[in-house]
Amino acid sequence: MSSTYLGMPAVPVYGSGNLHTAEPFPVAARRELDNEQLRANLGHATHTIRDKRLRVVAELPDWEELREAGSATKAAVMARLPELLEQFEENFTARGGVIHWARDAAEANEIVRDLIRDAGADEVVKVKSMATQEIGLNEYLEEHGISAFETDLAELIVQLDHDKPSHILVPAIHKNRSQIRDIFLREMPDVDPNLTDTPARLAEAARLHLRRKFLSAKVAISGANFALADTGTLAVVESEGNGRMCLTLPETLITVMGVEKLLPSWTDLEVFMQLLPRSSTGERMNPYTSLWTGVTEGDGPQNVHLVLLDNGRSAALADERGRSALHCIRCSACMNVCPVYERTGGHAYGSTYPGPIGAILSPLLTGITSEENASLPYASSLCGACYDACPVKINIPEILVHLRSEDVQSRRGTKKVPGQMDVAMKAASWMMGSGRRMALVEKALPLGKLAAGPDRKIKKLPGIAAGWTRSRDLPAPPAQSFRDWWAKEHEDTASKEQA
Ligand code: SF4
Repeated sequence: MSSTYLGMPAVPVYGSGNLHTAEPFPVAARRELDNEQLRANLGHATHTIRDKRLRVVAELPDWEELREAGSATKAAVMARLPELLEQFEENFTARGGVIHWARDAAEANEIVRDLIRDAGADEVVKVKSMATQEIGLNEYLEEHGISAFETDLAELIVQLDHDKPSHILVPAIHKNRSQIRDIFLREMPDVDPNLTDTPARLAEAARLHLRRKFLSAKVAISGANFALADTGTLAVVESEGNGRMCLTLPETLITVMGVEKLLPSWTDLEVFMQLLPRSSTGERMNPYTSLWTGVTEGDGPQNVHLVLLDNGRSAALADERGRSALHCIRCSACMNVCPVYERTGGHAYGSTYPGPIGAILSPLLTGITSEENASLPYASSLCGACYDACPVKINIPEILVHLRSEDVQSRRGTKKVPGQMDVAMKAASWMMGSGRRMALVEKALPLGKLAAGPDRKIKKLPGIAAGWTRSRDLPAPPAQSFRDWWAKEHEDTASKEQA
C-alpha cells in the first residue's frame, strides 16, 4: 500500500513536543541505573502488575483469538483512516460537538488555549491523558497564565512533585508511600500535618484536595482511549472516578486525541474492553468507563470540543514496516515485562512514551534522524517478551530491528568517509562469505589468548569493540576451534568405523 493511497503528505510532517529530551538513551540510562530506590520501586511494581495480568489473562480460553481480533481491527482502521475520520467528524458534529484538526503540538496547544479563554476560565481540571503530555499542554498553559490541575492520583503526585511520569499507566511508579506522604505534606496547603503513609489516608488527602477543584472548574480537559466512527462517540477508561467528575461537571469539555484512536463501531469496542483492563491493571473490568456523544441538553458539558492530533502520526502511518506501532492501546503490558525498562525506568527514554512501545513510537513520530531518539531502538535486548504480552500483537522486536536499520542507513548517507562499523561489517561480510577464508581466520583466533589475563578473560578491546568490554568480559578463545574439533572428531569416528 502506498503513502499516496493513504492520503499522506509526500513529505512527512514529524511530531514535536515531549517526544524527546536533550540526551540520548545510553547517557540517561546510565544515570538512572545508579538510583537504587528507583530500581527497587520499579521491580516491585512491575512484577506485581505482571503477575496479576497473567492470572486474569489465563482465565480467558479465547485470549489469543481476542488478540488476533484486536490486531486485525486496528490494521483495518489504519488502512481506511481518512474515511473513518470523516465519518467520525460527521457524527460527532451532528450531535453538537466541535472538531478541531491539529497538525502538530504547537497547533493543538494554541487551539486548547483559545478555547479555555473563550470559556472565560483561567483554571482547568484534567483527566489523565498521554496526548496532552505529548504536546506539553500543561507547560504551555502555564506560560499563558492558565493553571491545569491533574486529577488522576498518580498524575497529581507527579505534578505536585514537579516531576515527570515514569510509566504510562502508573506515572508515579518510581515513588513509594513515604515519598508520596512527604510530597503531600510539602505541597498541599490544607493537608493534615499528621498524615501517615497508609494508602487510605493518602487517598483521602488527595480526594479532599481535588474535590474543591472539581466543584469550581468551568473547563475540563481529557484524552480518549477510543473513538467510535459509526456514532461519533468518545470513550475514557479509568479507575478512580476522577475522570467521570471531569467529564460531567464542567460546562466546557475539551478532548485531545491522536487520530489513530478510532474504531469503526460499537461492536469493536467489545473486544478492546476485554483486552485493555486485563493487560493494563490486571483487572477483569475497569471501574469506570465513560462514553459520550456530542452534547446532551441540560446534562453534562454544554460545549464539547475534540482536538484531533496528528503530530507525526501521518509520518508513522507512511512507514509500512513501522505503522503497526499506531495500533497501541497504551496498556503498558510491554513495559511491565521489559528487562531494560525494569532497570532504567521511564525517564531514561526522554519521551512521553517509555519502554518498548516508546522505543519504536517516539522515533516513528519524530523521525529516526532526530538525534536523541535515534538511540531508542537499541534500548532493547530483543528478547520478545513485549510482543508476547501485547494485547494487539504489535511485533515490537521486528520494528526495533527495522528502525535500527533505518538509523544505520540514515547515518551512512551523511558520512563521506566509512566509519569503523562500516569497515568492520564489510570485513566480516568478506570473511564469512567463504568457508575457506573463515577457516583461515579461525586458525588465528587462539592468538586472542595473548590479550587475556591469568583469569582467561579479555577485559579491554580496542575501537568500537570497546563497547562490548565496557560492561562485560570476553572469555579468551579456546585452543581449538569448533571446526577443528568437528574435523578431528569425525576423523576419529571414520577411522574407528573403518577399523
Ligand atoms: S505496545 Fe502493546 S503492550 Fe505496549 S502499551 Fe501498546 S498495546 Fe500495550
